[in-house]
Amino acid sequence: MTGLADESKPVDPQQRQRLIAELRAVLPPESVLDQPEQLRPYECDGLSVYRRLPMLVVLPETPDQVQAVVRICRRHHIPLIARGAGTGLSGGVLPLSQGVLLSLARLKGILEIDSRNAIARVQPGVRNLAISEAVAHLGLYYAPDPSSQIACTIGGNVAENSGGVHCLKYGLTVHNVLGLKVLTIEGERLELGNGAFDLPGYDLLALMNGSEGMLGIVLEVLVKLLPKPERAQVLLAAYDSLELAGEAVARIIAGGIIPAGLEMMDNPAIRAAEDFVHAGYPVEAEAILLCELDGTDEEVSEQVMEVRELLLRSGALEVRTARDEAERARFWAGRKGAFPAVGRISPDYYCMDGTIPRRYLGRVLGRIGELSGEFGLQVANVFHAGDGNLHPLILFDANRPGELATAERFGGRILELCVEVGGTVTGEHGVGVEKLDQMCTQFRAAELAQFHALKAAFDPEALLNPGKAVPSLHRCAELGAMHVSRGQLRHPDLPRF
Ligand SMILES: Cc1cc2nc3c(=O)[nH]c(=O)nc-3n(C[C@H](O)[C@H](O)[C@H](O)COP(=O)(O)OP(=O)(O)OC[C@H]3O[C@@H](n4cnc5c(N)ncnc54)[C@H](O)[C@@H]3O)c2cc1C
Repeated sequence: MTGLADESKPVDPQQRQRLIAELRAVLPPESVLDQPEQLRPYECDGLSVYRRLPMLVVLPETPDQVQAVVRICRRHHIPLIARGAGTGLSGGVLPLSQGVLLSLARLKGILEIDSRNAIARVQPGVRNLAISEAVAHLGLYYAPDPSSQIACTIGGNVAENSGGVHCLKYGLTVHNVLGLKVLTIEGERLELGNGAFDLPGYDLLALMNGSEGMLGIVLEVLVKLLPKPERAQVLLAAYDSLELAGEAVARIIAGGIIPAGLEMMDNPAIRAAEDFVHAGYPVEAEAILLCELDGTDEEVSEQVMEVRELLLRSGALEVRTARDEAERARFWAGRKGAFPAVGRISPDYYCMDGTIPRRYLGRVLGRIGELSGEFGLQVANVFHAGDGNLHPLILFDANRPGELATAERFGGRILELCVEVGGTVTGEHGVGVEKLDQMCTQFRAAELAQFHALKAAFDPEALLNPGKAVPSLHRCAELGAMHVSRGQLRHPDLPRF
């Protein structure tokens, strides 16, 4: 597990006690956790192969308390790791043994709903789905919908620039966040964006999206709300080859139609989901596509006919249109339940997340199949096909010696494959500790150096979530993935974190 090195500086017991006393002075008594059994629930996120107990966990309830925590930690030079719901899948909230884990889960107020301007102002611990639930009576909703939306927080969504089924048409988190209040490591509050169409200056609002808790703590989020479409309809198409299904995805988009969602599942995922959810999927198919169309009644009726035609012409064995709302919900339940469904057929699975240009879907899925043979581990594919965002689930058994390491190597190879065809090593789950090595493949030294310079501008002591998302230049050099001229590391003056 290459990402696991704990580089936090030792904290002596007296300093720890002073820190606890200072934190208890600014927080409610039960908001500072320091006993091993209290810390255990915070040892990992959704990528549970990486675990470590934090030194302390704090659970502030107000923005002022968060500010006080940040100032205390900075004074003690203690690393600080922001945490939402801990559903991340790249080890982004993996604690440091000498660091403080700052949970934002108790800041869950919906501060303002403005239906005339279709915006809502919320605190970072608000769950993604809770925003849509709170505005449903106004005929509005918040579009980005990670499959974890029942649990994950909007603060975590911003930090990961999360996506979901509807992001093909409505964009990622960055396209749906209009403003942020952010706390710097100095404890200063920044206001980035205010809903106006354009703002002068550098686009720090965009920069914060996807910054993985390394540049600042998100304290408040101004989100864009959309009117609920009049109608949504879903089509299910079955194929006897992954390549044909991949080709159909490219054809739909090339045909000028942007579906609200366009998802693909391969045979192992179809079987697992059907067994779990009974969605009515054709279990003999090698691949299925789920294509959702939304808009006015008229638009949807027209597009359903067009897409149906396209799917049949692209070699679909059958195309079904959900007959009613219940069937539409069932089709989606299979897709949304696919991860836990795969969890039922394998002791462990490792969910990868890479993005490729849509036109290479067939080729890359074929190559993943070959790699599955080479590494001797099965794969189930279930993913946001319209975005080219792959989620191969590598099945393994952590109790078998060496299998976890093989799964990690296999996963790394898949991400490199994504880069080879012009894609990226992440689509929505972030880099965390999981994909540090692949960042060396994705970026050249010059680009990584700019990332480091940005980090240093926001957080010169590297106290905010250190060791995540951006590999040190040394690490890349050691991997042989970065060019080092005559043994001279470029930019030796830059801090390594
Ligand atoms: C079953 C399942 C399905 C998933 N499906 C999707 C999906 O479809 N799309 C998708 O994008 N993701 C998906 N995820 C991954 C995960 O849910 C998202 O990355 C989500 O945005 C994480 O939110 P969280 O509140 O759990 O954040 P956490 O896991 O707690 O933290 C994630 C990162 O955000 C930082 N962070 C958290 N809060 C703040 C804050 N207030 N200020 C600054 N930094 C902060 C943390 O330091 C960390 O780097 C899925 C996860 C699971 C378990």
